Amino acid sequence: MIVHESVAEHVYPRLPVFLQNAACWYYGTKESQQRFGKLFDQHLNTLLESEKWSASEIEAYQDEKLRGLIRYAYENVPYYRQRWQSLRIAPADIQSRADLPKLPVLTKEDVVRNREQLLSRAVSRKELAFRHTSGTTGKALHFYMSKESIAFQWAVWWRHRLRFGLQPGSWHANFTGKRVVPLVQQSPPYWRWNRPMRQALINMHHITPAKIGSIVEFLNSNRFEFYSGYPSIIHALATTAREAGLALTSRPRVVATGAENMLDFQRRDITEFTGAILTDQYGCSEGCGNASHCPEFAYHEDFELGILEAQERAAGDPAKTILCTGFASEVFPFIRYEVGDTAVWGSEAKSCLCGRHSRTLSHIEGRKDDHVVTPEGARIMRFDYIFKDIVNVKEAQVVQQCLGEVTVRVVRRTTYDLKDEDKIRTEFGRWSSAALKVNFQYVNEIERERNGKFRAVVSNLKRSAT
Ligand SMILES: [Zn+2]
Repeated sequence: MIVHESVAEHVYPRLPVFLQNAACWYYGTKESQQRFGKLFDQHLNTLLESEKWSASEIEAYQDEKLRGLIRYAYENVPYYRQRWQSLRIAPADIQSRADLPKLPVLTKEDVVRNREQLLSRAVSRKELAFRHTSGTTGKALHFYMSKESIAFQWAVWWRHRLRFGLQPGSWHANFTGKRVVPLVQQSPPYWRWNRPMRQALINMHHITPAKIGSIVEFLNSNRFEFYSGYPSIIHALATTAREAGLALTSRPRVVATGAENMLDFQRRDITEFTGAILTDQYGCSEGCGNASHCPEFAYHEDFELGILEAQERAAGDPAKTILCTGFASEVFPFIRYEVGDTAVWGSEAKSCLCGRHSRTLSHIEGRKDDHVVTPEGARIMRFDYIFKDIVNVKEAQVVQQCLGEVTVRVVRRTTYDLKDEDKIRTEFGRWSSAALKVNFQYVNEIERERNGKFRAVVSNLKRSAT
């Protein structure tokens, strides 16, 4: 939303509320043009047709897209050419989805180390959008996308919402981790309007016992067709409101979540609070794979955007590692990219009751993190924002032992120094709470859970304190 970092950082928080709303309008208009232009309409219309295809039509489409992608990467992307040549793999070896296991897996560390080599030589930088994310492990990941692919990704996301009767242009409340309302603000309004995108924005930092009354009153005094955002933030809204004895009188019809996996207790609490239909989509910020609920609540692979491949982890384990191969943005191709999640695939023999023939995932196991409680009482689960530009951190985990402080466990790169520590401390102040004390612990590795998953946030607080 808030595009230019330095403006966002220094100017925006000091503006009066009406100018912050105007800034949201300005960026919302730009955002809306980028996402919802003519291209978006074309993509959405095509996607609404292709989701009716038979299994063999889908297979033929994906195989053709894959052959094109592999040829393109071999001819234009130095990283793939070198790596495949050293393994004696030629484009002709990859004829279909079934041939993918012949190619090596691309890890996040490969992307960090080879960013410039992963960029296509056939494209000018003007056509690219730069992206940064930190994902689950705190590893800062920088990459490029073609500007065109942004509209395509949004069309895929809106196809999902259309399945539940929503339309681009439906008014909604978006629960975000971005600091649209500055952290220091101590009186309402704890929301901002982004009217071109038809949304009210509420950031997680203000969902606290002291402010929840105003937020629920705001939600009740408006007619929002749906809520969107991370499950963990909407869950914080539901539980903080419930604990304050507050209820929704103006309810959304649908809650559309994404970007992190929905846990059972979150689903239960959100449904109880909103009374809405809950629908979810799975995706990654790298834009190379996506799966969206159908009305039967199966996750259908959005096969036009890319392939979600199942890689065996251990014999007999129904959960498999997800590897993504993306079709939408060949300028920086992700091929067999290990995104860090696992899933249980649906049966290929049985097609879904909804009538769609694309592959399904019945269950996705993404992050299962705890949350940190700030001195103000906000429950913060997402710290990706903090680490996305700290390139000297290899991995990081946030641990809370007691109220008022956290310990950041860091695996350093050799270039890490004390300035990085200051930077992280400052970022915590900006993204979570200025009153939170931040300690550091340096480790050689961060141990995984027994199932191999990385936990970004660990809370050892007694439940009663959370
Ligand atoms: Zn279905």
